[in-house]
Amino acid sequence: MHTAWYRNFQRGIDHCLPMQCVLCDQCFRPSRPDHLCAFCRLALPLNIHACRHCALPLDSERPTHDENESTGCANPVCDACLSKPLADQAMVPLLHTGPAAHLIHRLKFSKGETEGLTLAQTMLTHINLFPSADHPDLLVPVPMAYRSAVRRGFNQSVALASHIAHALKLPVAADLLKRRGGPAQHTLSRAKRQHLAASSFQWRSRHATR
Ligand SMILES: [Zn+2]
Ligand SMILES: [Zn+2]
Repeated sequence: MHTAWYRNFQRGIDHCLPMQCVLCDQCFRPSRPDHLCAFCRLALPLNIHACRHCALPLDSERPTHDENESTGCANPVCDACLSKPLADQAMVPLLHTGPAAHLIHRLKFSKGETEGLTLAQTMLTHINLFPSADHPDLLVPVPMAYRSAVRRGFNQSVALASHIAHALKLPVAADLLKRRGGPAQHTLSRAKRQHLAASSFQWRSRHATR
C-alpha cells in the first residue's frame, strides 16, 4: 500500500508526463488522472439511468417512478425498490460489460493498480455528477472471505476505498467487519443478497458493540 506522500508525488508526475491509456495502450497528454485516453473514456459503458436504491439500470423506454416528483428532482426508482428498497442509495457508475468488465477483471485477478485508479476516478466523477445530500462518515470496504483473500493476495475493495477516501478526505475502516465463508455475491438472487449483510458479515470482536 502506497503512502499519501507517494500518491501525491505520483499524481504530480502523472500530470507532467505523457500517460499510457490503461485500455488501448496509446500514449497521450493527460487531462484527468484516470489513465484513460479521450476515446476510451467515451467508450465506457456508463450506468446513468439507474435506480437510486439498487443502481440496476432502468429501461429508458418504460416510464419510471420518481420519489421526489414534487421537487422536480430526478430520483428514478425501479419497481422492486418502490416497495422494498435494497439500500438508501447505491452508486454504480459503470455497467459490467466491455471495457468496464475488463478493468474490473484486471483489478480483481491481476492486482491491477492502474485499473483500480481508473475505476476509483470513475466513481469520483459519478459522485460529482450525481451528488447525494451528504458524504458518508466512514468508508467500509466489503470484506473478503479468508480463503479468497489468501488466494488473491489483496482486497480490491480496500484498494478502491483507499483512493476514494483520499480524494474525499474520509476515513476508511478496512478491519471493522469480517466475512464468513459462503457463496459469492454474484451467484445470489436479489432476495438472498438482501439477507447477505446479516448472515455473512460480522463485527470483528474488538469492535463488537456491547
Ligand atoms: Zn485508450
Ligand atoms: Zn431498485
